[in-house]
Amino acid sequence: MDEIELAKNTEICKNCKNVVVGKGNLKASILFVGEAPGRNEDEQGLPFVGAAGKNLDKLLAAVGLSLEDIYITNILKCRPPENRAPSSEEIKAHTPWLMKQIREMKPKVVCSLGNYATKFFLAGCNPDGMKEQPGITQVHGKVRMIDIDGMSVKLIPLFHPAAIIYNRSLIARWDEDMEIVKREIAQKTPV
Ligand code: URA
Repeated sequence: MDEIELAKNTEICKNCKNVVVGKGNLKASILFVGEAPGRNEDEQGLPFVGAAGKNLDKLLAAVGLSLEDIYITNILKCRPPENRAPSSEEIKAHTPWLMKQIREMKPKVVCSLGNYATKFFLAGCNPDGMKEQPGITQVHGKVRMIDIDGMSVKLIPLFHPAAIIYNRSLIARWDEDMEIVKREIAQKTPV
Protein backbone atom coordinates (compact mmCIF):
# COMPACT_ATOMS: atom_id res chain seq x y z
CA MET A 1 0.00 0.00 0.00
CA ASP A 2 1.47 3.37 -0.92
CA GLU A 3 0.98 6.57 1.05
CA ILE A 4 -1.89 7.82 -1.07
CA GLU A 5 -3.75 4.58 -0.47
CA LEU A 6 -2.92 4.84 3.20
CA ALA A 7 -4.36 8.33 3.45
CA LYS A 8 -7.43 7.25 1.55
CA ASN A 9 -8.20 4.84 4.36
CA THR A 10 -9.52 7.67 6.47
CA GLU A 11 -12.98 9.18 5.85
CA ILE A 12 -11.56 12.68 5.47
CA CYS A 13 -9.62 11.61 2.40
CA LYS A 14 -12.80 10.48 0.67
CA ASN A 15 -14.17 14.02 0.86
CA CYS A 16 -11.07 16.12 0.32
CA LYS A 17 -10.39 17.65 -3.11
CA ASN A 18 -6.63 17.35 -2.91
CA VAL A 19 -4.10 15.45 -0.88
CA VAL A 20 -1.83 18.19 0.44
CA VAL A 21 1.74 16.92 0.51
CA GLY A 22 3.94 19.96 1.16
CA LYS A 23 5.72 22.92 -0.39
CA GLY A 24 9.13 24.55 -0.28
CA ASN A 25 12.62 23.24 -0.68
CA LEU A 26 13.10 19.53 0.06
CA LYS A 27 16.86 20.14 0.20
CA ALA A 28 16.49 22.72 2.99
CA SER A 29 17.56 21.82 6.51
CA ILE A 30 14.48 23.28 8.23
CA LEU A 31 11.10 21.57 8.21
CA PHE A 32 7.92 23.28 9.42
CA VAL A 33 5.08 20.96 10.38
CA GLY A 34 1.51 22.24 10.83
CA GLU A 35 -1.72 20.49 11.71
CA ALA A 36 -3.93 19.85 8.67
CA PRO A 37 -5.01 21.51 5.43
CA GLY A 38 -7.90 23.99 5.62
CA ARG A 39 -10.37 24.92 2.86
CA ASN A 40 -7.93 26.95 0.75
CA GLU A 41 -5.21 24.33 1.09
CA ASP A 42 -7.70 21.63 0.04
CA GLU A 43 -8.71 23.69 -3.02
CA GLN A 44 -5.15 24.42 -4.12
CA GLY A 45 -3.40 21.23 -3.00
CA LEU A 46 -0.76 23.22 -1.12
CA PRO A 47 -0.22 23.77 2.60
CA PHE A 48 -0.48 27.16 4.28
CA VAL A 49 -1.99 29.19 1.44
CA GLY A 50 -4.99 30.58 3.37
CA ALA A 51 -5.08 33.18 6.13
CA ALA A 52 -2.73 31.21 8.41
CA GLY A 53 -0.36 30.73 5.48
CA LYS A 54 -0.32 34.42 4.61
CA ASN A 55 0.48 35.14 8.23
CA LEU A 56 3.22 32.52 8.22
CA ASP A 57 4.75 34.02 5.05
CA LYS A 58 4.83 37.42 6.73
CA LEU A 59 6.27 36.07 9.95
CA LEU A 60 8.97 34.13 8.08
CA ALA A 61 9.85 37.07 5.84
CA ALA A 62 10.39 39.18 8.95
CA VAL A 63 13.37 36.98 9.82
CA GLY A 64 14.56 36.63 6.24
CA LEU A 65 13.20 33.15 5.57
CA SER A 66 11.46 32.14 2.35
CA LEU A 67 10.29 28.88 0.77
CA GLU A 68 13.84 28.48 -0.56
CA ASP A 69 15.04 27.97 3.01
CA ILE A 70 12.38 25.64 4.38
CA TYR A 71 9.94 22.88 3.59
CA ILE A 72 6.40 22.95 5.01
CA THR A 73 4.01 20.08 5.52
CA ASN A 74 1.29 18.96 7.92
CA ILE A 75 0.47 16.11 10.29
CA LEU A 76 -2.65 15.30 8.20
CA LYS A 77 -2.49 15.36 4.43
CA CYS A 78 -6.26 15.80 3.92
CA ARG A 79 -8.66 18.44 5.24
CA PRO A 80 -10.86 17.42 8.17
CA PRO A 81 -14.47 18.56 7.54
CA GLU A 82 -15.16 22.07 8.88
CA ASN A 83 -11.50 22.17 9.94
CA ARG A 84 -12.23 20.11 13.04
CA ALA A 85 -9.32 18.81 15.07
CA PRO A 86 -7.56 15.70 13.74
CA SER A 87 -8.70 12.44 15.33
CA SER A 88 -6.15 10.02 16.70
CA GLU A 89 -7.11 7.47 13.98
CA GLU A 90 -6.37 10.10 11.34
CA ILE A 91 -3.07 10.98 12.94
CA LYS A 92 -2.12 7.29 13.04
CA ALA A 93 -3.10 6.79 9.40
CA HIS A 94 -1.38 9.91 8.04
CA THR A 95 1.83 10.29 10.01
CA PRO A 96 3.66 7.37 8.36
CA TRP A 97 3.69 9.67 5.33
CA LEU A 98 5.19 12.50 7.39
CA MET A 99 7.81 10.08 8.70
CA LYS A 100 8.70 9.12 5.14
CA GLN A 101 9.06 12.80 4.22
CA ILE A 102 11.38 13.33 7.19
CA ARG A 103 13.50 10.28 6.30
CA GLU A 104 13.91 11.59 2.76
CA MET A 105 14.52 15.22 3.66
CA LYS A 106 16.72 14.61 6.71
CA PRO A 107 16.07 18.04 8.28
CA LYS A 108 18.41 19.35 10.96
CA VAL A 109 15.69 21.48 12.50
CA VAL A 110 11.96 20.77 12.85
CA CYS A 111 9.69 23.69 13.78
CA SER A 112 6.40 22.25 15.00
CA LEU A 113 3.50 24.65 14.58
CA GLY A 114 0.88 24.39 17.33
CA ASN A 115 -0.25 21.62 19.63
CA TYR A 116 -0.71 18.66 17.31
CA ALA A 117 2.64 18.74 15.58
CA THR A 118 4.44 19.58 18.81
CA LYS A 119 2.84 16.75 20.77
CA PHE A 120 3.55 14.30 17.96
CA PHE A 121 7.28 15.01 18.08
CA LEU A 122 7.45 15.24 21.86
CA ALA A 123 5.80 11.81 22.00
CA GLY A 124 8.69 10.35 19.98
CA CYS A 125 6.52 10.34 16.83
CA ASN A 126 4.15 7.90 18.50
CA PRO A 127 0.53 9.11 18.17
CA ASP A 128 -0.45 7.00 21.19
CA GLY A 129 1.77 9.10 23.43
CA MET A 130 0.48 12.52 22.35
CA LYS A 131 -2.17 12.97 25.05
CA GLU A 132 0.40 12.97 27.84
CA GLN A 133 2.51 15.72 26.27
CA PRO A 134 2.53 19.34 27.45
CA GLY A 135 0.75 21.95 25.35
CA ILE A 136 2.38 24.56 23.13
CA THR A 137 1.95 27.34 25.69
CA GLN A 138 4.30 25.48 28.00
CA VAL A 139 6.94 24.42 25.50
CA HIS A 140 7.05 27.08 22.74
CA GLY A 141 10.56 28.33 22.06
CA LYS A 142 12.15 25.56 24.12
CA VAL A 143 14.70 23.91 21.87
CA ARG A 144 15.47 20.25 22.43
CA MET A 145 17.21 17.49 20.54
CA ILE A 146 14.90 14.63 19.59
CA ASP A 147 15.47 11.33 17.87
CA ILE A 148 13.48 10.69 14.72
CA ASP A 149 14.14 7.23 13.32
CA GLY A 150 17.76 7.36 14.46
CA MET A 151 18.26 10.94 13.22
CA SER A 152 19.20 13.59 15.72
CA VAL A 153 16.97 16.59 15.05
CA LYS A 154 16.54 19.93 16.80
CA LEU A 155 12.88 20.49 17.68
CA ILE A 156 11.66 24.09 18.03
CA PRO A 157 7.98 24.25 19.03
CA LEU A 158 6.24 27.41 17.79
CA PHE A 159 2.74 28.82 18.15
CA HIS A 160 0.48 28.02 15.21
CA PRO A 161 0.30 31.04 12.84
CA ALA A 162 -3.52 30.78 12.91
CA ALA A 163 -3.50 31.20 16.69
CA ILE A 164 -1.54 34.42 16.25
CA ILE A 165 -4.26 35.83 13.97
CA TYR A 166 -6.86 35.36 16.71
CA ASN A 167 -4.64 36.22 19.65
CA ARG A 168 -2.45 39.17 18.77
CA SER A 169 -0.81 39.05 22.19
CA LEU A 170 1.10 36.01 20.94
CA ILE A 171 3.02 38.10 18.38
CA ALA A 172 5.67 39.18 20.88
CA ARG A 173 6.24 35.56 21.93
CA TRP A 174 6.39 34.41 18.31
CA ASP A 175 9.00 37.11 17.61
CA GLU A 176 11.09 35.88 20.54
CA ASP A 177 10.76 32.28 19.37
CA MET A 178 11.80 33.24 15.83
CA GLU A 179 14.93 34.85 17.22
CA ILE A 180 15.75 31.37 18.53
CA VAL A 181 15.07 29.85 15.09
CA LYS A 182 17.33 32.49 13.52
CA ARG A 183 20.09 31.70 16.00
CA GLU A 184 19.81 27.98 15.29
CA ILE A 185 20.03 28.59 11.56
CA ALA A 186 22.97 30.96 11.95
CA GLN A 187 24.87 28.24 13.79
CA LYS A 188 24.82 26.12 10.67
CA THR A 189 25.57 28.84 8.15
CA PRO A 190 29.32 29.03 7.38
CA VAL A 191 30.66 32.61 7.41
N1 URA B 1 -3.20 25.22 9.10
C1 URA B 1 -2.36 24.17 9.11
O1 URA B 1 -1.99 23.64 10.16
N2 URA B 1 -1.91 23.73 7.95
C2 URA B 1 -2.25 24.28 6.77
O2 URA B 1 -1.77 23.81 5.76
C3 URA B 1 -3.13 25.38 6.80
C4 URA B 1 -3.60 25.82 7.97
